[in-house]
Amino acid sequence: MADYDYDLFVIGAGSGGVRAARLAAMSGARVAVAEENRVGGTCVIRGCVPKKFMVYASEYSKSFETARGYGWDIGETTFDWPRFLLAKDTEIARLSGIYVRNLQNAGAELLHGKARLTDGHTIEVEGHGVVTAAKILIATGGRPWMPRDVGGIEHAITSNEAFHLEQLPKSIVVAGGGYIALEFACIFNGLGVDTTVIHRGPNVLRGFDDDIRSHVAEQMEARGIKVRLGTSISAIEKTAEGLVSTCTDGHETTAEVVMFALGREPYTEGLGLETAGVTLGENGAVKVDAWSRSNVANIWAVGDVTDRINLTPVAIREGAAFAQTEFFANPTTFDHEMVASAVFTQPQIGSVGLSEADARHQYGKVDIYLSRFRPMKETFYGGHQQALIKLVVEQGSERILGCHVVAPDGPEIIQMAAIAMKMGVTKPQWDSTCAVHPTLAEELVTMRDKVAPPSLGAVA
Ligand SMILES: Cc1cc2nc3c(=O)[nH]c(=O)nc-3n(C[C@H](O)[C@H](O)[C@H](O)COP(=O)(O)OP(=O)(O)OC[C@H]3O[C@@H](n4cnc5c(N)ncnc54)[C@H](O)[C@@H]3O)c2cc1C
Repeated sequence: MADYDYDLFVIGAGSGGVRAARLAAMSGARVAVAEENRVGGTCVIRGCVPKKFMVYASEYSKSFETARGYGWDIGETTFDWPRFLLAKDTEIARLSGIYVRNLQNAGAELLHGKARLTDGHTIEVEGHGVVTAAKILIATGGRPWMPRDVGGIEHAITSNEAFHLEQLPKSIVVAGGGYIALEFACIFNGLGVDTTVIHRGPNVLRGFDDDIRSHVAEQMEARGIKVRLGTSISAIEKTAEGLVSTCTDGHETTAEVVMFALGREPYTEGLGLETAGVTLGENGAVKVDAWSRSNVANIWAVGDVTDRINLTPVAIREGAAFAQTEFFANPTTFDHEMVASAVFTQPQIGSVGLSEADARHQYGKVDIYLSRFRPMKETFYGGHQQALIKLVVEQGSERILGCHVVAPDGPEIIQMAAIAMKMGVTKPQWDSTCAVHPTLAEELVTMRDKVAPPSLGAVA
């Protein structure tokens, strides 16, 4: 083998890159990681983690209301945005520091700077010159996608900036109907911001089960979020009153802040992948096989840059599988089936497996079990939030193909359902599990009656 500076060079110290680099270094390999921003990547610095802190902060407004119903006297409540931001940034810095230490403790070398390939084995890192490596792992993640044809788009922010707004705005327009758009809409609404969601599609959360999509949109509206569907922002104008968003249907909305969350794109621009002969998909994602190997034999890619399932735990598992295969002689692939996901809207969503529509498409005949109800915590004080639990079951085999929960702690509940479903659980096995009482989740094992399609209509 040629004499390279490193056995492995990883570009990007996010979820996937850090896991792969740490594991590979622990095998005794000479490993370096380049990071142009802060160690931890999207998840820790500008994604899952800071978002969850914002979700927690925003949930208090409803908790105060609930608490009154439970007998508490609560005086005037105020929210101190700068104090929250400072606490959030302190915690993020602590977590990023842990990632740095973990890399160092494993023996990986960290190079701060933007990296780019100059050929299949050579990497140029800003501020560090040129290095060579036997194997290269691309783990550069993704970034917000912004439409270029919207006039005044420079006035809009993305999720990256939403974490650092100097002041909490009085009003916001959120463009987009995906999970990031909706989570931020609920966060701002919970913090008392007048919030409007504008989404081009006929319903929010494309890809999720239709009953879940409608239910969440309805529950968000019940909380005072204006959800405008079937239209999109064509221009943004800065005026003395604020930012005026004009929609394709002619409607105008004025708000202090306009946030675009229309999706994310793989971050491969300027990486020199073409120079190294790496094949990219239409959207710029690195094309890889089941082993996360690109068309170039010594170059792999994991995480969002491959645009498979863009979630932190998936990037981590892909990175780990790569390291196991290449540095521990333990051939490992990650199975992308039955990956559960969470949406931290209010109410939250936990979902695993197929939607009813996808299950009907793939399996033909399916049975639907659906329960929509006000949890006892809500009924006690006259709250209106409704939970929805839905199971999609294959006819004949009775295998549970999809489980969808919209409820407080839905994401916590779905983790356990995912284990059973990954093992191929059937509805009779599921139902033989005794309920945990009194909980919201007990509804999962007590749904006996099938509903006739259209499922939600049957129980509304
Ligand atoms: C607002 C938001 C909320 C999210 N919430 C969730 C959630 O609740 N749950 C969940 O599972 N997922 C969530 N995600 C998705 C999750 O953050 C990503 O799937 C995950 O971070 C992908 O990891 P990665 O390793 O592929 O890339 P990243 O974590 O993005 O890491 C890539 C790293 O590469 C660096 N980099 C890029 N190019 C170069 C270069 N040329 N040279 C050097 N360094 C470079 C970047 O600076 C970055 O640090 C969220 C994402 C966002 C934006």
